[in-house]
Amino acid sequence: MTDTTDTTGGDVRLTGISKAYGSFTAVHPLDLTVPNGSFFALLGASGCGKTTTLRMIAGLEDPSTGTIRLGDRDVTGLPPHKRPVNTVFQSYALFPHLTIFENIAFGLRRRGIRSVKKQVGEMLELVQLGDFAARRPHQLSGGQQQRVAVARALINHPRVLLLDEPLGALDLKLRRQMQLELKRIQTEVGITFIHVTHDQEEAMTMADTVAVMNGGRVEQQGAPAELYELPRTTFVANFLGSSNLIEATVTSTAGGEIAVTAGGTKLRLPADRCAGTPAAGEKLLAGVRPEKMSLVHADDAAGIDASRNRFTGTIRAAGFIGVSTQYIVDSPAGGTLEVYVQNLEHDTRLTPGAEVVLHWNPAHTFGLDPDRGTD
Ligand code: ATP
Repeated sequence: MTDTTDTTGGDVRLTGISKAYGSFTAVHPLDLTVPNGSFFALLGASGCGKTTTLRMIAGLEDPSTGTIRLGDRDVTGLPPHKRPVNTVFQSYALFPHLTIFENIAFGLRRRGIRSVKKQVGEMLELVQLGDFAARRPHQLSGGQQQRVAVARALINHPRVLLLDEPLGALDLKLRRQMQLELKRIQTEVGITFIHVTHDQEEAMTMADTVAVMNGGRVEQQGAPAELYELPRTTFVANFLGSSNLIEATVTSTAGGEIAVTAGGTKLRLPADRCAGTPAAGEKLLAGVRPEKMSLVHADDAAGIDASRNRFTGTIRAAGFIGVSTQYIVDSPAGGTLEVYVQNLEHDTRLTPGAEVVLHWNPAHTFGLDPDRGTD
């Protein structure tokens, strides 16, 4: 299944990789570099081409164009079993008639290795199933079965482990636990994990680097915090959490700062947080995450620092969401805005119908090109 004689270190590098099925292009030519030893997530909605991309790395799908390199080896034309890669699927694909021990030992036995006890024991320990070696798959929970599938895929020391929605069949609570568990396993074994998911929280929790796919293209890739703090397209801004995207027109650009006007209200944002280089007169979407905004009753507006961006508005709706309260505010200049306020700061006057002022640090604003990326 995997090639343990391959010792070349290095990154997974996709260059100009694409896949067409007849006249339909599932993956447009893309370049991706997955750093060696990292946890990389391909994130996107159903049908965006993430599984196809993963299957091309596994060798289960021939690319229409491009090359795939693992370290210094070009593996583009190699069949799956010749690649130092293994895949874990959502369906686990365990052998029902074999014990957990034998399921994990399978890859070793297939290579003719007789003495498997030590290696299987280490794997059972890695996935914390030491007491379950003699059981059969149907005697384990979904999360435990998934851990067996991971152990079985790792036993031959692949250079890269591909995971195709591996937690998709688990309920939400178990899924969240398994995310941390998989991250721990990856850190412990130190090999490259490439994980496909449509769940943004899952990608953000586990991955060092996330590539956000949309319509067969990579929209943006980077560290989770970087994508969240500085989305470059409206798709990424909306797919990873919520964003207020305010329609504005650039009035001036000077001193590293962009001044814009939105419905007659002036806002400022740092030039280096704008996608592209907007010029005076051009349209721009000024983005702010809901938790970056503060909300005060209009009677208290005098206390707001003059350096902050602000909008006046009226609370349309308020909803308690545990640690914070979510407010929907109608602002004549900014449109419909969403704000999360920590409940520690709860002000009982902030109820639907109240006149309020929203304000935030200009440094937390990002600028997007309204013509780039889809919603
Ligand atoms: P999901 O999360 O639903 O699996 P995905 O992002 O992984 O979605 P892919 O499975 O990569 O998406 O599919 C991308 C597109 O390519 C889809 O529109 C799909 O219908 C199409 N596609 C995939 N495999 C084939 C095939 N063998 N023949 C024709 N079209 C295909």
